[in-house]
Amino acid sequence: TTETDFELIGRPEVLPLYRPRLKFSHKGNYGHAIMVGGSYGKIGAVQLASDACLTSGSGLVSSYVPRCGYQAIQTALPEVMVLTDDGEKMISEISFPFDPTVVGIGMGIGLDKITANAFAALLKTMDKPMVIDADGLNILAQNPKMMKDVPELSVLTPHPKELERLVGKWTDDFEKLAKVKAFSTHYNVVVVIKGAHTITVYKDKGFVNTTGNPGMATAGSGDVLTGMITGLMAQGYPSLHAAIFGVYLHGLAGDLGVSENGYEALKASTIVANIGNAFMELL
Ligand code: AMP
Ligand code: MG
Repeated sequence: TTETDFELIGRPEVLPLYRPRLKFSHKGNYGHAIMVGGSYGKIGAVQLASDACLTSGSGLVSSYVPRCGYQAIQTALPEVMVLTDDGEKMISEISFPFDPTVVGIGMGIGLDKITANAFAALLKTMDKPMVIDADGLNILAQNPKMMKDVPELSVLTPHPKELERLVGKWTDDFEKLAKVKAFSTHYNVVVVIKGAHTITVYKDKGFVNTTGNPGMATAGSGDVLTGMITGLMAQGYPSLHAAIFGVYLHGLAGDLGVSENGYEALKASTIVANIGNAFMELL
């Protein structure tokens, strides 16, 4: 294995990445993100991600969901626009009526062949960096040929199981990192290895996050992170900065949420509710 260049990411490291809002800006300056995901019974995943995307500052957010998700998202998130797929219970053929600034995909999307085909077809049309999570990653792992169509500088956000499906088993952390570095270099993508100490890997560099807590080991926590990174990219943060900064803010929002509610009670929606406070800590 080769040397990895590690950097610990704390407040001093993210401050220069932060791009505060400009006084004379309008929503058109902050992008229009589309969050693609959901299936019957798992609409909440894309709802949380869309909420997190908006709360992280994306100018406009649309959710792209199967028909069964329409009511839930329109009711829960009045600021979000909803685009529906032809599929009733799952996404079956993805098309957008406009060119989004960035697409985040995979939360609750499921592994049905129809959905996998729709994702594969979408990838062939995409050229801008996107954010891929959850079953989006599992579909890539099941169909490795799809990886060549993943736009360069996309951000992939696997938890340990998803990572293993993507890069194969490892025997120790050194081998794991070596595999991820090789994967990142080969496909020119950013890989966020989620866990207690999330490491963002780009080629031979690793950025080790210092925020977050075990209260965040809870349903939907990762969906919130996907929404946050997508929201930052919508505003023009480059992929690697969006990943490093998004991971830091997500952990900080979780820490602030815990200070109010404790570890056990922390829910993904509480993390979203604290994104604003996390940004405020940087002022
Ligand atoms: P997911 O498994 O996709 O819901 O993602 C879980 C999210 O929660 C990731 O962002 C993890 O980094 C975070 N997380 C999970 N467990 C912990 C932990 N013990 N300490 C800090 N963060 C965690
Ligand atoms: Mg997840």
